[in-house]
Amino acid sequence: MIAAYARHGRMIHAKTTFDAAPRRNSSSWNAMIAGYAQNGHCKAALHLFRAMNNEGQRCDMVTFVAAIDACAGLSALVAGRSLHSIAAAAGLVAHVEISTAIVNMYAKCGNLDDATIVFSSIRNKNLISWSTMITAFVQNGHTDRALDAFLAMNVDGLFPDAVTFKSILSACSHAGLFEHGFFHFDLLVHDFGITPTMDHFKCMVDLLGRSGRLLEAEELVQTMPFVPDDVTWNTLLAACRVHKSVERGKRAAEVLLELTSEIPGYYVLLSNIHAAAGDHAEKAKVRDLMEARGVRKKPGWSTIEINDRFHEFTAGEKFQHPKKQQILEELKRLSVLMKEDGYVPDTTEVLRLVNEDEKESLLFFHSEKLAIACGLISTPPGTTLRVVKNLRVCSDCHSATKFISKITGRKIIVRDLNRFHHTENGVCSCGDYW
Ligand SMILES: [Zn+2]
Ligand SMILES: [Zn+2]
Repeated sequence: MIAAYARHGRMIHAKTTFDAAPRRNSSSWNAMIAGYAQNGHCKAALHLFRAMNNEGQRCDMVTFVAAIDACAGLSALVAGRSLHSIAAAAGLVAHVEISTAIVNMYAKCGNLDDATIVFSSIRNKNLISWSTMITAFVQNGHTDRALDAFLAMNVDGLFPDAVTFKSILSACSHAGLFEHGFFHFDLLVHDFGITPTMDHFKCMVDLLGRSGRLLEAEELVQTMPFVPDDVTWNTLLAACRVHKSVERGKRAAEVLLELTSEIPGYYVLLSNIHAAAGDHAEKAKVRDLMEARGVRKKPGWSTIEINDRFHEFTAGEKFQHPKKQQILEELKRLSVLMKEDGYVPDTTEVLRLVNEDEKESLLFFHSEKLAIACGLISTPPGTTLRVVKNLRVCSDCHSATKFISKITGRKIIVRDLNRFHHTENGVCSCGDYW
């Protein structure tokens, strides 16, 4: 029953059933911990894992996989590393499921070195381990290594499936590898006989769009054998913004806002297209439309792990933290240094009807900036900061993070909704396209 509730995301029912059980064995604990991890309640999963240990209940492979997945979900490097050593001491890392989960955990913490070491030590790698490693390379911006791993996997005698191909195609599109992308799409259809899914087509639209082949991208959206969803139209719209294709962008946005009207990011993109074309009357119309429809930005939050403890920040000046005063002072100090270094707040993604100064102060309190400042004042110089953000990083925070990494000499890793940003000495691994 616990597992069934968890499968349907009903975690409160699952927990009530778990608590009411007269006796609990490792299966009930496992179902509960895995349920939490799979439904994104990673903190609760780890909490329960500790409780299970305290009660002297024996942990098995399933428990470890669920707990390690929870660490991956949280980007909890300290907790994840300690689970890795416990699993190693218990002789569990010989199981491919456990070692693959560990590879994924290190990768989701932005720690590719350890992910690669663990991956190399797996003797009986299966398709899931290879796909995990390839996706890790892609999300962390190492396209070459993703393509090499794809080749090595074939040499190893394993055939890629639809999921592996999706990773490879998105690697090609992130890196703008036009020919490689088409080569692999062809390979997928003709050599491996896989029927391409909508995800594969989306990668191809992205690839065409990034390469500036907007006409072909638009044609592909209209002719693909699926009814294009909002994400597909958004991919085209994003490309139109980068390549300043106003008319095509407007067409895409029209369909997009017809399909889904409640995602604020879509309005922001359209508004940016008008702003880039210097059409401020149209830009204002987009903002009015958004307000008339009552579209609200999802509240942003970020977490940072400092000495095995998580600090969570919500956006806005009302955030709560015991070190609030020092965090604000650190941000102010940095802001002066950044401006001396050439930083100009990028207010293009702020749609609220406020003046430029107010826009700047809205940006100042974005949750990832608060988390980074907290990390800086709470860790010794040189410590890498790892931040997880629930939304896509905005262009201002992206640029601010680059300046901060340069000024403080810190490596800052931000994992946002889509990918990782490894920022070091003023440069981000995403190449500023995310
Ligand atoms: Zn931001
Ligand atoms: Zn980046």
